[in-house]
Amino acid sequence: MKITVLGSGTSQGVPVIGCSCSTCASSDAKDQRLRSSVLVYTHGFNILIDVGPDFRQQMLTHNIKKLDAILLTHEHNDHIIGMDDIRPFNFRQGIEMPIYGLPRVLDDVKNKFAYIFESLPYPGTPRVSCHELLAGQTYEIFPGVSVQTIHVLHGSLPILGFRIGKFAYITDASFIDNHSMEALKGLDVLIINALQYRKHYSHFTFDEAISTAQAIGAKKTFLTHISHDLGLYESILSKCPPNIYPGYDGLNINI
Ligand SMILES: [Zn+2]
Ligand SMILES: [Zn+2]
Ligand SMILES: [Zn+2]
Repeated sequence: MKITVLGSGTSQGVPVIGCSCSTCASSDAKDQRLRSSVLVYTHGFNILIDVGPDFRQQMLTHNIKKLDAILLTHEHNDHIIGMDDIRPFNFRQGIEMPIYGLPRVLDDVKNKFAYIFESLPYPGTPRVSCHELLAGQTYEIFPGVSVQTIHVLHGSLPILGFRIGKFAYITDASFIDNHSMEALKGLDVLIINALQYRKHYSHFTFDEAISTAQAIGAKKTFLTHISHDLGLYESILSKCPPNIYPGYDGLNINI
């Protein structure tokens, strides 16, 4: 399995438009953060988690020629609004793109992208097939590829994390209950969100992400959904305990 971090930034990305803080002004490529998304390559399939506003650039940067499925954590714009740009994959592969998410999330996609779901869609419109997921279940989405859905809270909103084998991806969480913590045992690699140092109503702070990661105990943990307030990559790294690292765009992880 190969995991590529396509984006590691929070909803505004880093740099933030118009901001001249030291992080936004940094010339370190690891301080340039597109909106959060990862690509998981396993068993010959490319599985994308979330399709945000930087999706097109992420596909071009990594020269992705084939996409087999899209898993959606939740319906916020920074996780779904790139959906229109799946069209080149529809044309190249001649398939409806399978998208997977909670029923509420798929309903939101149908509202935001109503033109995709018209009975006689305009030619060239994205083509998708919707697959409902419930939390706390395991789904074999391709032969040999099982996706376990992990219930987490994003403020008061229930959203999904995903576990595929020894890898799990949790973004936009602010609370993980004991049942879900159990489902995250025995990981080689965890990616989990860490927004900023100050308390936030719907995202883990840096300290909360670190303590949650330590309780989960993956062999390696990478932080994502990072805001400019978290600071420079090198300074975040210096604050991380052993086996926990800030993620960055373009990070490749092999399991
Ligand atoms: Zn987000
Ligand atoms: Zn800034
Ligand atoms: Zn969100």
